[in-house]
Amino acid sequence: MSHIRMVDLHTQYLHIRGEVDAAIQQVIDQSAFINGPQVEAFAQALAAYTGAKYVIPCANGTDALQISLMALGLQPGDEVIVPAFTYVATAEVIGLLHLVPVMTDVDPHTFNMTVEVLEQALTPRTRAIVPVHLFGQSCDMAPILDFARQHGLFVVEDNAQALGTVYSFPDGTRRHTGTMGHIGCTSFFPSKNLGCFGDGGAMMTDDPELARLCRSIANHGQEQKYHHSLIGCNSRLDTLQAAVLNVKLKYLDQYARNRALAAERYDALLRDVPGVMLPWRSPWSTHVFHQYTLQVAGGRRDALKEYLAARQIPSMIYYPLPLQEQQAFRSIARPSGSLDVAAQLCRRVLSLPMHTELTEAQQEEVARHIVDFSE
Ligand SMILES: *Cc1c(COP(=O)(O)O)cnc(C)c1O
Repeated sequence: MSHIRMVDLHTQYLHIRGEVDAAIQQVIDQSAFINGPQVEAFAQALAAYTGAKYVIPCANGTDALQISLMALGLQPGDEVIVPAFTYVATAEVIGLLHLVPVMTDVDPHTFNMTVEVLEQALTPRTRAIVPVHLFGQSCDMAPILDFARQHGLFVVEDNAQALGTVYSFPDGTRRHTGTMGHIGCTSFFPSKNLGCFGDGGAMMTDDPELARLCRSIANHGQEQKYHHSLIGCNSRLDTLQAAVLNVKLKYLDQYARNRALAAERYDALLRDVPGVMLPWRSPWSTHVFHQYTLQVAGGRRDALKEYLAARQIPSMIYYPLPLQEQQAFRSIARPSGSLDVAAQLCRRVLSLPMHTELTEAQQEEVARHIVDFSE
């Protein structure tokens, strides 16, 4: 059996090698390496796919979050509510802009922010909420959006892990994650569900003014060449990356199906393992399984990880520390309420190999060792 990997980008590439190589060669032949036609073509294709009115490509997902917050015109000291269980970038850009990340607890089943924590986190300085659609599943957005509307708050979705996920509102309306708040941010880091061959990111919005601001900030605050109306940054999606993404976007739904199928196989193989909790499926959301994440009870997570590693089965801890325990945030972030679930998840979670190329035999091997461990 071939070596089991957390992600297998090379095999995925081999399936579409002809198309990808041709797209890359075309960029080199045209040599429009910055802002070539492939960049705008990709922005339009992604807008059509997600239903967003405007897609603004940029250099990476972290920049997407930063530029979004800049476009909202927040002032130093303004508070932005984030989940305490997330990748650091979500809160890092808030600190970078001298805003205050207000850390809130998450749901123990979905790993996501819920509306319940927002009331307590609210102060007169609150300006925005950043829900993170963690591991490929949407937060329950209807109540979060209602809360934001009632209190005049901006919503910036961190959709770096959930591109392609669809949320169902209580009235049956369906929307892609990243298109429900004022701005949605995503990342094309190679291992994300839609990954390029380096760094990339994008913002999405339905608001023409926010789209204009994001586009301008990402381009040195200029709308007319060498005329700068804002302090911005330099954040571009390379033409080469856009060319790769144009090919891979066509396969995104197929990739999501492969991942969902792999998740179902894990579910069936691991259903009866004592002390192991399988990922929860939210009734309001599809799941694109950026990660397949177990919770291991009884303080045995690290032992399981080591047991698997000794048998050449990789696994990862996303994430070992909640935001409140990160040194960088100690003096700038404000905890709101108990963050015990986030802290507990950091001690319990274990993500298994999950990618578009995973075979049934590989999954059986992963599962067999988990079963052996638990017996
Ligand atoms: C990957 C990721 C980011 C940052 O994206 P980059 O492209 O690596 O900058 C932000 N938030 C979350 C939740 C992520 O998983």
